[in-house]
Amino acid sequence: MKIAVLPGDGIGPEIVAQAVKVLKALDLDLDMTEAPIGGAGYEAAGDPLPEATLKLAKESDAVLLGAVGDWKYDKLERHLRPERGLLRIRKELNLFANLRPALLYPELADASTLKPEVVSGLDLMIIRELTGDIYFGQPRGISTLENGEREGINTMRYNESEIRRIGRVAFDIAMKRNKKVCSVDKANVLETTELWRQVMIELSAEYPEVELSHMYVDNAAMQLIRAPKQFDVMVTGNIFGDILSDEASMLTGSIGMLPSASLDANNKGMYEPSHGSAPDIAGKDIANPLATILSAAMMLRYTFNDEANALKIENAVKKALAQGYRTADIVTDGCKKVGCNAMGDAVVAALN
Ligand code: NAD
Repeated sequence: MKIAVLPGDGIGPEIVAQAVKVLKALDLDLDMTEAPIGGAGYEAAGDPLPEATLKLAKESDAVLLGAVGDWKYDKLERHLRPERGLLRIRKELNLFANLRPALLYPELADASTLKPEVVSGLDLMIIRELTGDIYFGQPRGISTLENGEREGINTMRYNESEIRRIGRVAFDIAMKRNKKVCSVDKANVLETTELWRQVMIELSAEYPEVELSHMYVDNAAMQLIRAPKQFDVMVTGNIFGDILSDEASMLTGSIGMLPSASLDANNKGMYEPSHGSAPDIAGKDIANPLATILSAAMMLRYTFNDEANALKIENAVKKALAQGYRTADIVTDGCKKVGCNAMGDAVVAALN
């Protein structure tokens, strides 16, 4: 099991160290190699995705990533910024399917800003297309018009096969869950997503057991807050998924709890927390490492087909929470407030 470990920037190195610690505590034959990405890549090799890092990622079975980005790089030319490294590695590895489970641990029902009865028992999987849409469509850019006014252009674009392959991931996952897929679009206004809806309907004929529904993205944003438990699997494009999955993260109490997997067609994957590099709390040993630790569990499940050890990690996280361990972002009265490193230790201790 060859794993490229890319800590990245901000809290990345702190949280990835905890996930590595948990993986090492399992009795597995893992070959883990570290490399820089994002701002760290720019510092090391003048490139947010250094060639050696990309080579390592391509040669590995899976990538475990922290996060990239720091305000200090905001003035760099766009192609040198940390986020570019992330977009490029996803594209280079052809990681088109982003899986973001939003699961509310009963112990954290009080940490959510929503009423416990609205969120308790929540178990939702958001599937976001990751390599197409307005984030990659051409033409793009800022140009100056004849009258001297500046104009910004981005292009929303999906072809049929891109929609079909992400739809298939959603239907396949729904078959292993509650057999419900909600496809989110804006088919009333955007032709790209009108095609999205047509392809989803065509695909659903191959999955007669799965109930397919459609929702406009504005309504989906509202329903996620109003009654999130109505959803099982939600599938959507890159930009809508970006926004909805962050919204869903707050249902679970903290963005620090949400893992993610990005897969290619052969289940090679990159695993990372859904949050960013949190430069505001970096280096203080207060970040929540659980999203990264849970991402490592997803890695064992989806790339290495090791359900038993994936569950072992997830159960250890549950146990640590049940024992009252909380990082600052999920702390409630009467809990044991711990730092990033100590939370990693608590999960390792709970493995046994
Ligand atoms: P962010 O997710 O980094 O932080 C948002 C808020 O959540 C902050 O208050 C932060 O302290 C908190 N937070 C995030 N993760 C946490 C954790 N594990 N434990 C406790 N608190 C946590 O988003 P942002 O502030 O908008 O962006 C900061 C940087 O991260 C930017 O440079 C941005 O481009 C980058 N970013 C990277 C990724 C990625 O690497 N996948 C994703 C989003 C943002």
